[in-house]
Amino acid sequence: PCALGLATPTAVMVGTGQGARAGILVKNAEALELAEKIKVLVVDKTGTLTEGRPSLIDLRCADGVARGEVLQLAASLEQSSHHPLARAVLDAARAEGVAPLAAASAQAVGGKGVTGQVDGRAVQLGSPEFIAAQGVAMPPALLEPLLAAALTPVAVAADGRLLGVMGLADPLRAGARAAVARLQALGLRVVMLTGDHPAAAARIAAEAGISEFRAQVLPGDKAAAVEALRAEGRVGMVGDGINDAPALAAADIGIAMGSAGTDIAMEAADVVVMNDDLRRIAETVRLSQRTHAVLWQNIALALGIKAVFLVLALFDNASMWMAVFADMGASLLVVFNGLRLLRQRAGQ
Ligand code: ADP
Ligand code: MG
Repeated sequence: PCALGLATPTAVMVGTGQGARAGILVKNAEALELAEKIKVLVVDKTGTLTEGRPSLIDLRCADGVARGEVLQLAASLEQSSHHPLARAVLDAARAEGVAPLAAASAQAVGGKGVTGQVDGRAVQLGSPEFIAAQGVAMPPALLEPLLAAALTPVAVAADGRLLGVMGLADPLRAGARAAVARLQALGLRVVMLTGDHPAAAARIAAEAGISEFRAQVLPGDKAAAVEALRAEGRVGMVGDGINDAPALAAADIGIAMGSAGTDIAMEAADVVVMNDDLRRIAETVRLSQRTHAVLWQNIALALGIKAVFLVLALFDNASMWMAVFADMGASLLVVFNGLRLLRQRAGQ
């Protein structure tokens, strides 16, 4: 039966084409079938929920340390990092007329910070936990005000002594809250995942309307966090960064943000959404639902028409022309039913 053979491919092909027109690139057709079955949607914070363009809001210096010194040492190390926080530190230094120095043997430690030699001094910067783990004392008087303001803390130390703590903030994307609400309305449990400090993570989660989040997750642990959630149902993961690629691959469906995303994230993903528009994630789920509906209608149509003519034939009531109609007609109906999907606009 031709119609039965056409039922699934026409629905999937039209669904994929309609997704492309709506800025949703389905790289893997199976993802289109699976998207409607997602129970948990894991969302990366930086660059996905937020703009991914943090800026320096506050800088607290240790006693007797000048602001320019902290900023200069930090900027010197950050020259070698591709982290969004690094760009924020470099922008702040430039704005204040502080020129970075050359850094030797600078090394980025994923999800933690950067270490290296600047001006003959051993400099470290990164999360307070990372700096404290290097044996540097972390006075609460410097850190607490930044945490109270829900800023992302980045501590700077040289030769084993804390010089200062920077507080950075990355604004929520416009429309992120509405997009999350839409996903929740579709019945998805939305969980935010980030390497950031819990205080900053809590603020962004609250602003986005997300009640469940995991903070201080190291890049290597993101995939394990996704894997753990898979015990509770099908998991979708939305991310943009290099750190997210293993988690995107670990999820049942990986969704990468197109324009801000890194190539490796897009490579690891099953679906890529254009223009970083979070609303397209809900549209992907809706598209999957519509594709599924058409797919099952097609199978029912194909089998139904066959059954009717089989019964007619059994009672000797079918002519050859009716049989031709049963075969060709069913195929045409299945194709037209698939094309019906094209007329529905994404998001409806
Ligand atoms: P996210 O999940 O938000 O992308 P990451 O895992 O990349 O976060 O980083 C987690 C934390 O590690 C940051 O909040 C910061 O404290 C620290 N960190 C990592 N890389 C850097 C860097 N280049 N400069 C400053 N801080 C860094
Ligand atoms: Mg990230």
